[in-house]
Amino acid sequence: MSDIIQLLPDHVANQIAAGEVVQRPASVVKELLENAVDAKAKVISLVIKEAGRMLIQVIDDGLGMSQTDCRMAFERHATSKIRTADDLFNLHSNGFRGEALASIAAVAHVSIKTKQDNQEIGSQLVIHGGHVQSQEPIYTQKGTNIEVKNLFYNIPARRNFLKSNTIETRHIIDVFQRIALTYPHLSFSLTHNDQEIYNLKSANLKKRLVHVFGKQIDEKLIPINESTEIIKISGFVTKPSYAKKKRGEQFFFVNDRYIKSQYLDHAVHLAFENLIPSGEHPSYFLYLEVPPQSIDINIHPTKTEIKFDNEKDLYAILRATIKHSLGQYNAAPILDFNR
Ligand code: ADP
Ligand code: MG
Repeated sequence: MSDIIQLLPDHVANQIAAGEVVQRPASVVKELLENAVDAKAKVISLVIKEAGRMLIQVIDDGLGMSQTDCRMAFERHATSKIRTADDLFNLHSNGFRGEALASIAAVAHVSIKTKQDNQEIGSQLVIHGGHVQSQEPIYTQKGTNIEVKNLFYNIPARRNFLKSNTIETRHIIDVFQRIALTYPHLSFSLTHNDQEIYNLKSANLKKRLVHVFGKQIDEKLIPINESTEIIKISGFVTKPSYAKKKRGEQFFFVNDRYIKSQYLDHAVHLAFENLIPSGEHPSYFLYLEVPPQSIDINIHPTKTEIKFDNEKDLYAILRATIKHSLGQYNAAPILDFNR
């Protein structure tokens, strides 16, 4: 009898893990923007070419990394953000798995320049398909500048699975908007094929919404504010007259993290019952704050689904709060949908 089990080499393990974290260019965008935010950047630029197939670049003015950390960052399970599993229930960062950079580097050509504020000289690392090509000291500005080129160059199946440039760009813009709305006080820009799509300066939430969705939303916003023992809710819903047939402006953020929740979406829709025609959707930008111990973020690789301890109570509070706010704004039931 011979033994047949082997440990997979790191670059193979990383490539497999990448399957979960990196599904398309937008997943890379999400991970890199979140890293920039976690590094306390104030100004973050995203540059993409060919819907991110050719280039995804994120430049931040955050904390940067030491030379050793810059190398370590690409190891699997390498993170500066948690130390123990308990930390998962008291998270203050976007990242925590320490898998994104290792996964991305396993399936692309990556080049990173980074420098800490107190250092004279920074570091540049080039890594292709998980294999380090070079690491050199360089002069660069404070912060991190990471370029991800030729995504999935070594996984043709994944590359072929990508949709049209229009669709992939749409996914990138969705991710960009979610992060820009999570952090209105940070500046974000997005450039695609040398064309500036967004240039969002630091703002309050209302101004950020107007910058992202256009002037017409300004006078349609109804503020939401409620604070109970188990949840704080803030943000905006739009007036019933702004309801749209197409979805796309429905946003929940829980403890500064964009999440999807059909269940809570239903609560909002119910609050609008009889105010908008069925089949139309209110826009909403709702920021929920709950005790970190009452949610589990670690149930989905992209972290866009989370588990609440007391979902039913949240549902009821959310619905009542929005209903109340709509009432205050005289959004009485209308029989005539002439708008
Ligand atoms: P995670 O974000 O889950 O920790 P990543 O693989 O995304 O895992 O990043 C690994 C580590 O690299 C981070 O914990 C952080 O210390 C460092 N890092 C990544 N991106 C940046 C950045 N833009 N600026 C400073 N440090 C960074
Ligand atoms: Mg990360």
